[in-house]
Formats: sequence, C-alpha cells, structure tokens
Amino acid sequence: MSKNLNVQRLNLPAFAQAGEPLVELTPLQNMERLAQEIHGPAPDLVINWRASGELRARTGAEDDVWVHLEARTSLPLTCQRCMGPVATSLEIDQWYRFVADEDIAMAEDDQSEEDLLVMAPQFDLLAVVEDELLMALPLVPMHETCPETPTFSAGEAELAQPDGEAPAKPHPFAALAQLKRSK
Ligand SMILES: [Zn+2]
Repeated sequence: MSKNLNVQRLNLPAFAQAGEPLVELTPLQNMERLAQEIHGPAPDLVINWRASGELRARTGAEDDVWVHLEARTSLPLTCQRCMGPVATSLEIDQWYRFVADEDIAMAEDDQSEEDLLVMAPQFDLLAVVEDELLMALPLVPMHETCPETPTFSAGEAELAQPDGEAPAKPHPFAALAQLKRSK
C-alpha cells in the first residue's frame, strides 16, 4: 500500500531512484472508463496492481527512468451471446521507458521493445494502468459455453437439458458384450 505517494501525481525519477515498489488496490470506481465496461454495478471490485521503477544508466545522458507495471484481475464483462456476466481474466506485464517528449517517443518507438511514455513532472500512473486494462479487454467477451437460461424455445430447451437422456442409442459396450457372448 502506498504511504504518501499519490499514484496520479507521481514523481517518477524519485520513485525510480527509491526503488520501492508500489502495491496498490484501486477501487474500480476510481477507473471510470474501465468501470463502464463492467457487467452491472460492481461497487466492491478492486484492481490489484504493482509498479516498480528503476534508473538505468545511459552513456552521455541522464539516467533513463524505467517502470514495470503488473496487474492481474478478473472482471465481469457482458457476454455478447447471452448478455450475462462472464468473468474475464486480464493481465498486464509491461515495461515502460520514459522519454523527454513526444518527438523522441515517436522516433524511438519502432526500435524499442518496451513501451515509451512521455515524462511529466506529476505523472498519472493510474491512467496508464487503466489504459492497459482497457486495451487488454477482449473485443467480444463471450462464455465458452453460455449458462442455460430459461429463454430457450421449447425445442431448444430439450436439447439443452444437461442430464436429459440422449435418445435411445445402444451402449457401445452392450454391443461388445453381445459380440463376446455370441462367440
Ligand atoms: Zn454467454
């Protein structure tokens, strides 16, 4: 839990230099854009995330600020087939390197495996966490197998009965047993 660090106005160079990771539990309602993607109201949901920073020396320049962001959560999204809630796991595991301005970010983005972000004196790290979670959302959330609902038509309901007996079909071993007996 962060003591005095405001994750929305973070002094990144100081954070990276201190080397003390941030472990946060952020209520989903503090991430308004993400909260809109959730199935139904979910006032108790919290997002567990972690950030660690480090300074990496660069010859002939000031140290680079790097931040590693991790989050693992499961959110109820709306299944696009049955419109019910579908628990969806989201995971973030991403390194960022901070650069001085947008031009450098554009110029170096292609040759960088890490993501580049533009440094700000009071950096909103929470917004980055939210952006990443939004990008991690599946385009079409859907159950692998939708739970049964009472809205099936009569015919479909019969087919969907989980413990309904299949129409009389000889048991494979019954036929085998008969074969053995006939020898
Ligand atoms: Zn479904």
